[in-house]
Amino acid sequence: MVANCLFCKIAKGEIPVDKLFEDDDLVAFRDIAPQAPLHFLVIPKRHLAGPNGMVGGDEFLIGKIMAAGARLARENGVESFRFVVNEGAEAGQTVFHFHLHVLGGRAMAWPPG
Ligand code: 5GP
Ligand code: ZN
Repeated sequence: MVANCLFCKIAKGEIPVDKLFEDDDLVAFRDIAPQAPLHFLVIPKRHLAGPNGMVGGDEFLIGKIMAAGARLARENGVESFRFVVNEGAEAGQTVFHFHLHVLGGRAMAWPPG
């Protein structure tokens, strides 16, 4: 738990979210400002700022987050989806607690802006 970290507070249940799934390691919840018909975030419960903060052992955790994202997309009727992880402000990161965006339900452009 990092003080003043929004997603640590969400992981602890201190801020209400539209939760899709939760286990001991991760929480999945709908994004408050959806950019696609289906847009949810999967976060580790333990604070991790982003990919640059990964340490030994986090590979399994991030793999678990991706597997949960894919499964939850399918369970919500979306077979084709986009995963996004923003690292750093220039890439668009605004919340500095690792989160996998899962977006689907519409056609996606490439490359991203
Ligand atoms: P980033 O820009 O850091 O990759 O993504 C942060 C995401 O968190 C944004 O898509 C934003 O809409 C979402 N977000 C920020 N605050 C909240 C919140 O309080 N609740 C939920 N559900 N999503 C949030
Ligand atoms: Zn945090």
